[in-house]
Amino acid sequence: MPFPQPATTAIHYRIDPGECRAHLYRVTLTVAAPAAQQELSLPVWIPGSYLVREFSKNLQSLRARQGGAEVPLAQLDKHRWVAQCRPGEPLELSYVVAAYDNSVRTAWLDATRGFFNATSLCLRVHGQEDAPHGLEVVRPPELAGWSLATGLAPLQVDASGFGSYGARDYDELADCPVEMGPLWTASFSACGVPHRLVVAGAAPSFDGERLVRDMQRICEEAIRFWHGAGQPPFDGYLFMLNAVNDGYGGLEHRNSTALICSRRDLPRLGQSDKDLRASEGYTTLLGLVSHEYFHAWNVKRLRPAEFARYDYARENYTALLWFFEGFTSYYDDLLLRRAGLIDHAGYLKLLTKAINQVLQTPGRLVQSVAQASFDAWIKYYRQDENTPNATVSYYTKGALVALCLDLALRREGRTTLDDAMRALWQRTGGGPMAEADVLAVLQELSGRDWSAEIAQWVHGTADLPLAELLAAHGITLQADPAQTAQRLGLRVAENGGIQVKTVLRGGAAEAAGFMAGDEWLALEAQGQAWRLLKLDELALYAGSATEVTALVARDRRLLRLPLALPATDAAADTVRLDVQDAAAAQRWLGAAASPAA
Ligand SMILES: [Zn+2]
Repeated sequence: MPFPQPATTAIHYRIDPGECRAHLYRVTLTVAAPAAQQELSLPVWIPGSYLVREFSKNLQSLRARQGGAEVPLAQLDKHRWVAQCRPGEPLELSYVVAAYDNSVRTAWLDATRGFFNATSLCLRVHGQEDAPHGLEVVRPPELAGWSLATGLAPLQVDASGFGSYGARDYDELADCPVEMGPLWTASFSACGVPHRLVVAGAAPSFDGERLVRDMQRICEEAIRFWHGAGQPPFDGYLFMLNAVNDGYGGLEHRNSTALICSRRDLPRLGQSDKDLRASEGYTTLLGLVSHEYFHAWNVKRLRPAEFARYDYARENYTALLWFFEGFTSYYDDLLLRRAGLIDHAGYLKLLTKAINQVLQTPGRLVQSVAQASFDAWIKYYRQDENTPNATVSYYTKGALVALCLDLALRREGRTTLDDAMRALWQRTGGGPMAEADVLAVLQELSGRDWSAEIAQWVHGTADLPLAELLAAHGITLQADPAQTAQRLGLRVAENGGIQVKTVLRGGAAEAAGFMAGDEWLALEAQGQAWRLLKLDELALYAGSATEVTALVARDRRLLRLPLALPATDAAADTVRLDVQDAAAAQRWLGAAASPAA
């Protein structure tokens, strides 16, 4: 049943998910007081995911009316329209949005679940972005049993959450996605603040109570990290989790987050504690929860000066994603450790993985993390066969920059990165910031200038001084034998055969003439020929040979490539971490957040 339009809302969207079998949302937008030439547009991107996605490609059947009469509507470009209105009369726009992207970034609708971001469904009314916006979602009879969850403030909703919500402005509307369906729901309190978890798609074995207990510990750890005994900058928080067969991802928002996980990574009823703690998938899920929650402070509030006000019409460039994504990535796992959800060994395992990922990326010597941040729109979000050779991840290397900074600050003994994060929050009032603010708080807290380190670690391409800094905290970084693919300089996919995805710069495979797209079929070694289905079979068939021939298929031609096999010794691009001084390691890894309230 539709609810009456709240009288105060100048901009009102009515969303009808009735055509769920066709994956279509029907949208009616009412503008109470349109301009004579009323411009409207749909965003081309969604904040937090730095790629122009052209959401208007899914919008169809747009019409405009005033008092029941058709209003002339002209399309200006790929995402903008202008309506020729009679002033003083409400303008009604109707359109349909196809929703068939089961990700956290756009919109999805079928007979089992609905999800949308306003950036996909809600045309922006130019000139009235700062007016209150109303969002009404109706529930047709066929969606009985569905409930609805969103971070928006409810104005008039029924027990299942369908009805009318309000946003202070378009930015808030765009930052509050909506999840609906037959949802598993639970509420919990973290440091006295109400939190909610809704889960779509979980199997009957799902142990929701267990997940809630662990999430509560993460949230409390994060709130205490930023505010000690104080309150977080939101009145409530909503986790929307979509469990699918195979998936992973999340998008941060001011008082909510949309997450995707693999069903098998969820805790199961009856699963032992030991079993669950040993599950890499579950640790990954908790890391995702921790990551997106930390973003409620670091990128949604503390944010690049360039994001003070998002421009929905084009790329919004910033060279600071190494800080907002990288430092968030450093703290996501560290807070799991501090909350007691992983032990020291578990934490060091995750850290080893991150270090190896960066060391095994030749692009780290080509691109700095500041450049990687700026180029996110055309590089990180558009990966191809050349990506590992030309770029570095601002997530992974950014996290290692945070690690180096934290270890270096702790070694000097005056302050920690925790203190610096909190000082940044104080300095900016939890608002927009620049790299100069990072340098200023570091100087203030440590008593010395850090611009040389930032220049080298953030704006340079030399390797980070990880070995030296970890050693100062009782952990040694040792070279280890590389996996076969890494030793050969290859990234491959193995699905009943070996497909070459990337040939790494300067490696043995490059010297042999391998190319991305090749299928590695067989191996000739010591006078014999063997069909090869997995790279790890190489040692089995090559034996002690150091010169072999690889048979590859390329564009249906069969090629024989002479390949010199590198030795299996320890390699500089593969490391392991050993705890040498447990007490020193404990001082860093066991350190609890202890802000001065
Ligand atoms: Zn992130």
